[in-house]
Amino acid sequence: MTAAPLVGVLALQGDVREHERALAAVGARARRVRSVPELDGLDGLVIPGGESTTMSNLALRWGLMGPLRERVRGGLPAYGSCAGMIMLAERIEGGRADQETIGGLDVTVRRNAFGRQVDSFEADLDMPVLGDAPVHAVFIRAPWVEQVGDSVEVLGRVAAGPAAGRIVAVRQGVVVATSFHPELTGDLRVHEYFVEMVREQA
Ligand code: GLN
Repeated sequence: MTAAPLVGVLALQGDVREHERALAAVGARARRVRSVPELDGLDGLVIPGGESTTMSNLALRWGLMGPLRERVRGGLPAYGSCAGMIMLAERIEGGRADQETIGGLDVTVRRNAFGRQVDSFEADLDMPVLGDAPVHAVFIRAPWVEQVGDSVEVLGRVAAGPAAGRIVAVRQGVVVATSFHPELTGDLRVHEYFVEMVREQA
């Protein structure tokens, strides 16, 4: 594909603008998605960080949950950061009873997994698919991935500290998720990786 790919950013709630900026910086066109017609013609979709219970509520109320599930199940490349990871998980621990997800990733994620004591923290991670330089990852009331199905590739884990070994980046087919927020750090490699995948798929 020669034209810049068109990537939707689910704009119900969360850090939409930061993802738009990161997408533009890696050569994609971004479109805010708040309604079903805005899903038409997309080459990929980003689910931002924010609050997954609110996103779930709004997606249900605005009639987007079903269409989002159809698109992702139908092979639309998707990337979720933090709350977006929760939205793409098939199973949640610590979710609200009425919380629904889009799914697409055969994983169980634990919400607010790193505990109340460490609401937010930063850490360097190895993510070999992004090259040798470590990723400086920002975690904000982040989930981790508790369990992965056979077709899920683990892209990154916490390297050190009490949560060492915890899975914080995964991919299954064309669905990618990170517990952390690359849209907040200026390290564009996760967005590059995703948009490259979108280009290949388009
Ligand atoms: N704790 C939030 C949730 O459950 C996620 C936080 C984030 O996206 N920074 O949705």
